[in-house]
Amino acid sequence: MSRGVIPTQGGYTPSRVPARSVGVGALVLAMITLAAGCGSGSSSSGTSTSAGGVKLVAAGKLTTCTHLPYAPFQSSEGGKIVGFDIDMIDLVAKKLGVTQTVVDTPFEGIKSGQDLNTGKCDIAAAGMTIKPERAKVIDFSVPYFNATQALLIKKGTGYASLESLSGKKLGDQSGTTGKDYVTSQHPAGVTVTEFEDLATLQQALATDQIQGAVDDLPVWTDYIKKNPGKFEIGAEFNTGEQYGFGIKKSGNPELLKTVNQVITAAKSDGTYNTIYEKWFGTKPAS
Ligand code: GLN
Repeated sequence: MSRGVIPTQGGYTPSRVPARSVGVGALVLAMITLAAGCGSGSSSSGTSTSAGGVKLVAAGKLTTCTHLPYAPFQSSEGGKIVGFDIDMIDLVAKKLGVTQTVVDTPFEGIKSGQDLNTGKCDIAAAGMTIKPERAKVIDFSVPYFNATQALLIKKGTGYASLESLSGKKLGDQSGTTGKDYVTSQHPAGVTVTEFEDLATLQQALATDQIQGAVDDLPVWTDYIKKNPGKFEIGAEFNTGEQYGFGIKKSGNPELLKTVNQVITAAKSDGTYNTIYEKWFGTKPAS
């Protein structure tokens, strides 16, 4: 499960050719064949093939698109990108015999399917909720996490609903289900400001630019834990969301199958629970 120690796929072993008995032409041909067999990642189709017969955008790597920061699912800690989603995708990379590499990119390009369509990455892992309109443009894995929305407030300020923020300012995050929820509620008298990412939304609340912030409950729970005594949940909104990993629409059924197999196996062999406890400090509710 630890990153960076997964061995790359097994090397290509050329069949033994008695060198002295073949001509120069045959040797050159053998070398070209060998180079192609090694998979330099520059084939004309722009795709390489992993050991498991799964297409990948870069040879020897499973390239993941995400939008940082979204702790505890993905964040940069000491120059390394870590998190629950990263650990889950490491399981997929391990199964394929490659290593994971992570690309940080705006959520809009992830949820629209654009990053997958343009070959920026093989898979999207971004605490992304499975939604019907997203499923039209992305192939989603089986669900791997349950979430709801929540209102984060400064401790002791007492806002317990969106309506209670009438005359105040509320923040949400661009392109997210939290934003969708706030929009659907159009709370009267509340000024809503949109923030590009979780970090700027958190910062706005911490510096009193806004009095409440709506985003996924698990990221708020993590933030409260890391900033003891400062913030609390004002209200939870039971949106009943489920996260899925995204794969190019009808573009990589072999990868989709592998990801689903990995999630299912991790749930049944205890690996999922271990990763969950590592990032949330508790066992998942069954
Ligand atoms: N789960 C939310 C969504 O899918 C937020 C995801 C995120 O901000 N990374 O919209």
